[in-house]
Amino acid sequence: MTPKSAYRRILLKLSGEALMGDEGFGIDPKVLDRMAQEIKEIVESGVQVGLVIGGGNLFRGQGLAEAGMNRVVGDHMGMLATVMNGLAFRDALHRAFVNARLMSAIPLNGVCDAYNWAEAISLLKSGRVVIFSAGTGNPFFTTDSAACLRGIEIEADAVLKGTKVDGVYDSDPNQNDNATMYKTLSYQEVLEKELKVMDLAAFTLARDHHLPVRVFNMNKPGALKAVVMGEDEGTLIDH
Ligand code: UDP
Repeated sequence: MTPKSAYRRILLKLSGEALMGDEGFGIDPKVLDRMAQEIKEIVESGVQVGLVIGGGNLFRGQGLAEAGMNRVVGDHMGMLATVMNGLAFRDALHRAFVNARLMSAIPLNGVCDAYNWAEAISLLKSGRVVIFSAGTGNPFFTTDSAACLRGIEIEADAVLKGTKVDGVYDSDPNQNDNATMYKTLSYQEVLEKELKVMDLAAFTLARDHHLPVRVFNMNKPGALKAVVMGEDEGTLIDH
């Protein structure tokens, strides 16, 4: 018998940077294919998967604004970058024989579907992976906000945030060898200790709607499956 997953429906958030692997920019096809395989495994275990992908491997509005561009235009580019990542991810899922649909908060007729809440729910129920791209559709937000927003809208059991580190630490593990990882945290502790889980707009949205957030390492093979199976992987923020 297949072991039962801990979740019925999840919102998986992957940063754009997670897609670029060791490259400094763009998408590494090997990373994309590995992630598609990991998602295939959890879909086959019966979990409904909504996916939000960032765009930081291509463009971020803030970075473009620092170089002199109008911030709103930069954010539009950032949001379109998430659509490009979504197109690549949908393609990788299809090649892995996983049924997936791409929706965009900015309508792009002929490229992908416009975001539609009722349709997304119905697709999720039928076992399709739904990729929500173009963030919230508005400048000055991040894809973490989009992940929490869509997570709440689709009534996901949790937002699973795949990062490059194992979880939430008391200091930067890349700079401090003694950094320790938290296993669980309350929303309040994250705010009091000013831990970098998500930006404040995204995090308060999750807190106000009691949406659990689990941070885990998407580069660690099998970590996503372990999280979905309810194993004690990464850091859980949920009370
Ligand atoms: N963005 C935006 N509104 C949104 C989501 C994203 O304007 O609702 C833009 C913003 O410029 C952001 C970029 O898209 O920097 C890429 O998203 P993000 O930085 O969240 O990507 P990640 O860091 O997860 O790769």
